[in-house]
This record gives sequence, C-alpha cells and structure tokens, in this order.
Amino acid sequence: MIDNLKRIKETGIDNFMVIENEKWTCEKCGDIICVHTWKCTKCGYQVKLP
Ligand SMILES: [Zn+2]
Repeated sequence: MIDNLKRIKETGIDNFMVIENEKWTCEKCGDIICVHTWKCTKCGYQVKLP
C-alpha cells in the first residue's frame, strides 16, 4: 500500500487508476477481478498473487 501511495503521487491519480484497471481485468474473459479475493467476478478465474 505504501508503494501504491508513492505511485499515486508520482503518476497522478488518473494514471494510477488506468494502470490498476488494466491489472484488474480478467485475462480469460475480460471481466472485473475482485480486489479482495483476486477472483474474476464472472468466470471465477483466480489471479496469481505476486
Ligand atoms: Zn473471467
């Protein structure tokens, strides 16, 4: 979370949201990944944790 805050300051909140939105898109079906469970809300695809 500290790194995230640094990036927001460096890139601005708009850029940050774009980057985050790409990250939270399911690579299988293109739906939204739940930020809490790291699972696609549509197909249930589990994103690998970093
Ligand atoms: Zn999906």
